[in-house]
Amino acid sequence: MTPTPRLKGAWTVKVLTLFPEVFPGVLGASLTGKALQQGLWALDPVDLRTFGSGKHRKVDDTPAGGGAGLVMRPDVLGRALRMAGSGTPQDPARWPRLYLSPRGKPFTQADAQRFARAEGMTLLCGRFEGVDQRVIDHFGLEEISIGDFVLTGGEIAAQALIDATVRLIPNVLGNEASTEEESFSDGLLEHPQYTKPAIWEGCEIPEVLLSGHHGKVAEWRRDEAEALTRARRPDLWEAYQARKPKP
Ligand code: SAM
Repeated sequence: MTPTPRLKGAWTVKVLTLFPEVFPGVLGASLTGKALQQGLWALDPVDLRTFGSGKHRKVDDTPAGGGAGLVMRPDVLGRALRMAGSGTPQDPARWPRLYLSPRGKPFTQADAQRFARAEGMTLLCGRFEGVDQRVIDHFGLEEISIGDFVLTGGEIAAQALIDATVRLIPNVLGNEASTEEESFSDGLLEHPQYTKPAIWEGCEIPEVLLSGHHGKVAEWRRDEAEALTRARRPDLWEAYQARKPKP
């Protein structure tokens, strides 16, 4: 990755991976890419292969107890995590240390907000059958999943998680209001969006959105957001109802 400038104290993510060349990947495009170039956040990919053992820089081995596949070795990952951890705060609130894993707690917008409030974070991307459990336990890694499916490796998951986090860092989007109104920020899915032309293929924009009446527009958006959330995400709807002040 081409080195990028970084402003003093910029939020930093260290990504431990066997494929450092896939970073910044999609994070290098659009607003996250521009913010990276401006030094508003910093990305440090760490090549796990350089911590490998022996002439062939071996990073994996067969699973204890037998079975298919390979497991990433604790000695290799331990060296990498120790190196990456030097000079970073130990407090997980200031510097979360995560292992991307399908077994992890599902990643949410609240996690992205928590990570964005930290000074930075370290992400471990697994490959093969995953990593030796002792590494997770020893370093107190938080296991986090981006969904109930299995990817080949943690790199795509890391990029998704970084993207969701970085866009919450002040000045990255340039329009903080847009993150306040979007899906999940108030526990609801976002209302439908429309733009010009006013009529497309015979379909019109809902009249209220062209009325110029801000109060009615806000009411329509709230009603739509509630209806969508109720229909698509009963779990979010239930939590939203429980939080809503009783009349
Ligand atoms: N054997 C593991 C299991 O069944 O839970 C799956 C390992 S997967 C093939 C290899 C790596 O991809 C994992 O170590 C993890 O880093 C990453 N990964 C796969 N699915 C993921 C998900 N849904 N969320 C986050 N990371 C994931």
